[in-house]
Amino acid sequence: MILPWHKKPFAKLKQMIDQNHLPHALLITGSEQMGKFELMQQLVKTLLCEEETCDQCVLCRAISKDNPKQALDDSVLIRRSHYPNMVYCRTEVNDKGVESKNIRIDQIRAFCEALNKTADNLQIGVLFYADQMNISAANSLLKTLEEPRENTLIILLAHDPKNLPATILSRCQSVHIPPAYDQETEAWLAQRIGEAQHTDFDVTQLLEHTHGVPFKVLSELSGDGFIHYQHWQNQLLDIAAHPLMINQLEDFEGNEVAVLNCLQNLVIEGIRLKTLNHEGGLIELNKVVKGVDSDFLFKLLSDIYHALGLSKTNVNIKLLLDNILIVWSHITHLKRYPQIINPI
Ligand SMILES: [Zn+2]
Repeated sequence: MILPWHKKPFAKLKQMIDQNHLPHALLITGSEQMGKFELMQQLVKTLLCEEETCDQCVLCRAISKDNPKQALDDSVLIRRSHYPNMVYCRTEVNDKGVESKNIRIDQIRAFCEALNKTADNLQIGVLFYADQMNISAANSLLKTLEEPRENTLIILLAHDPKNLPATILSRCQSVHIPPAYDQETEAWLAQRIGEAQHTDFDVTQLLEHTHGVPFKVLSELSGDGFIHYQHWQNQLLDIAAHPLMINQLEDFEGNEVAVLNCLQNLVIEGIRLKTLNHEGGLIELNKVVKGVDSDFLFKLLSDIYHALGLSKTNVNIKLLLDNILIVWSHITHLKRYPQIINPI
């Protein structure tokens, strides 16, 4: 089963297969939890299964069973797939259960060695996440990429290609999984959420909140992240509609960044409602932005971005959030956009 938001990237891969243009090295990118591993599995099944992903045969089942994220009893350099001609390389988990930050050169060597065995069948090596390779590991991989062997496919998974050396990038064909906001993805999510009896959530909003990462919606729903989020959102909308309510605002201490993110999403959605004549969305937000100058929304958004950037420094984030909330609470009747003072 292809996930709805994988259809386009998968079509690109399928075209490479059909035209016999599949490269020796392939790079699959996309933000965390976009399902890079699942797309890779789909590709491998398509390549190997006689019926192109029947999901029933020994081969398809072997590949589905792989879970290289699972901790192993022994620390190992590479992990073997349930399918004998496939190996995985990822950061190692040591005997104490601590995951290392980097993929090291000895791991890459073991990985390439396993792939160098002569075989009649296609040899597949999957490296994740390639952006975790240290420099010597990347250089070691480069040698293998420069001298591709017949019947070998190396698949690199990475969150961000910018973190990979240009030399590696130039040796790979890349396929990107973009964030998903389409109706088909929404329907897929709605079904999953419905099964878990979370019927009171708005799927469009959930996707906005996770920046278009459907699996993240599911993982956050399994915790209480969204319940807080909805609560903050309601409070933020309340103070924009009734500025005096700012005095009754709860203490956001400890959650300043999350509240800023929540406000950021509201302002982005507000801008979209106004400038694109986008319909739908939250009724309260529609009411708030109706009389607001779009220019003020853009300025506020820029201040929020700036504040989020500063939140990584030792700025007084509580005070900064308070200053932004004062502007937001007056947004419907501002005459002039004030300068937000950044506390140090
Ligand atoms: Zn099959």
